[in-house]
Amino acid sequence: MPLPVAHSLAGFTILQGQRLVFFQKLWQNVLLFVVLANLADADFIPGFFVGNPNAFHQLHSHSLGAAVLVGVLGAGYFGRKDQKYLAYFVVIALAYFSHVLLDYFNHDMRAPYGVMMWWPFSGEHFTAPQPIFVAVHKSSASGTFLQSLWHIRNWQALLRELLVMGPVALIAWWTKRNRKKAISH
Ligand SMILES: [Zn+2]
Repeated sequence: MPLPVAHSLAGFTILQGQRLVFFQKLWQNVLLFVVLANLADADFIPGFFVGNPNAFHQLHSHSLGAAVLVGVLGAGYFGRKDQKYLAYFVVIALAYFSHVLLDYFNHDMRAPYGVMMWWPFSGEHFTAPQPIFVAVHKSSASGTFLQSLWHIRNWQALLRELLVMGPVALIAWWTKRNRKKAISH
């Protein structure tokens, strides 16, 4: 997994690149897209209860099937006001699937390597031949999981994520800002 930094920046980028109105306030929209882009990692939570946060990590929640499911649920909720169900579905599913894509480009050091990204069409794990993101150091025991995230390698991972995704998010924000300016002039 990249850290939530890369995922959050990806969510922010997708928010900038679309024109639907989810909420009226900007911070609510940003929060929604940050949550959507990180939601797949909620699979750490059931693992905590069985003593190993990694027990269910990068399985079904990290897949096209999960993205479609979240897209359908989200479109059902947000599409009621303007009937743009398909558009909401595409944007929400994309924001969710951005997580899976970034994890695909992660340097995974723990078997099974990669993500089950094409489930339900395939139960295989896929990982990029050339990873972009540094592997995150994390413990397999619930008791030491949070402390283990303070490892020096994770600071390197953080820096790499900022360097890769920061400019992408910035360009998306800048482009949207200029487009809005052009429309209002
Ligand atoms: Zn993940």
